[in-house]
Amino acid sequence: MSSKKPFPLPLSSVIDKSSGTQSQGTKSFRVATPQTATQNAAHSLANTARQKTLPVQPRPVVLIPQELPEQGGSLVSAAVRKAMVARVASQGVKDQVVLAALDAIPRHLFVQPGLASQAYIDASLPIGHHQTISQPYIVARMIEVMRNNSRGGVLNQVLEIGTGCGYQAAVLSRVAKEVYSIERIKPLHELAKQNLRPLRIANIRLHYGDGMLGLEQVAPFDGIILAAAGMEVPQTLLAQLAIGGRLVAPVGDRRQMLHLIERVSQSEWVSSTLEECHFVPLRPGTI
Ligand code: SAH
Repeated sequence: MSSKKPFPLPLSSVIDKSSGTQSQGTKSFRVATPQTATQNAAHSLANTARQKTLPVQPRPVVLIPQELPEQGGSLVSAAVRKAMVARVASQGVKDQVVLAALDAIPRHLFVQPGLASQAYIDASLPIGHHQTISQPYIVARMIEVMRNNSRGGVLNQVLEIGTGCGYQAAVLSRVAKEVYSIERIKPLHELAKQNLRPLRIANIRLHYGDGMLGLEQVAPFDGIILAAAGMEVPQTLLAQLAIGGRLVAPVGDRRQMLHLIERVSQSEWVSSTLEECHFVPLRPGTI
């Protein structure tokens, strides 16, 4: 049972529940087994083998033509995106709202034109400035965990730290009323604006700044997702979570684990460790 702790508190003192099936009060939720990009790839290969006996499974890896038009409506990209969504589902993401959001966002519009043919492979890809667009599986997984709250998945305001090319913000716009996303690298902030403009998404607010400081003027948030890994979760962000809100973040250096921290009262946060992951580093300041 968790004990009450006054705020502020170091992350190390946040109650840490071990991996496995978690239970919080009367509610319990499933936590995926450790999974890395490599394991995901192995999983996809296993599915390929299984397809021989299960023809209903979609093909795990489908490339789209290089000459894909820069429009979201292409039949080809819609088909390969469906295959991507099916693959993410086969890796354990069950939330249909999240899977539908993944299906709705044309990921190929967020990658460099030369990489468009790889846009629907389950991998992170370079977006410049030593940063990456996150792997579709982990984007879906983090949003699924954030949505699994005590309010049946209702999310009014959510905050993303690390906009990058803007892909996850676009997916989030389908599951939350208002999405705020902060990026510390100016050219990437501009890139995200450019990528999102043609999609005309009305409920995303992009900010250029240090996401470790959060957005005090907008807080509290029902959900916070960090798309970059620090050695600990900034306390400022914990303080900007609404009661009942969930923060999902990779934590670590070379070996990273996905953490879920739920704010259960004014002065109490409950933390659990979910699965292995790989993110670019969370860095302070702006460039
Ligand atoms: N959300 C992106 C992933 C971007 S990669 C997607 O949809 O695929 C992570 C991003 O976090 C990088 O662009 C990096 O510059 C940014 N980042 C790292 N530390 C940050 C900080 N303190 N504040 C804001 N952004 C940060």
